[in-house]
Amino acid sequence: MDKKLLEILACPLCKGELKYDQEHQELICRHDALAYPIRDGIPVMLEQEARTLTTDERLNK
Ligand SMILES: [Zn+2]
Repeated sequence: MDKKLLEILACPLCKGELKYDQEHQELICRHDALAYPIRDGIPVMLEQEARTLTTDERLNK
């Protein structure tokens, strides 16, 4: 994914910064413990589409 794109993206809920998970193709918001999917290189910044992080992931991301 484009690094510049990542820089301008923010979590739609808390407006916080996101962490790019290259392995899982997700954008992580630690504040909300949500992972937004990246489909075909396009981040899906919708709360309904986001996945809740597991406790394990919350500790390690
Ligand atoms: Zn957030």
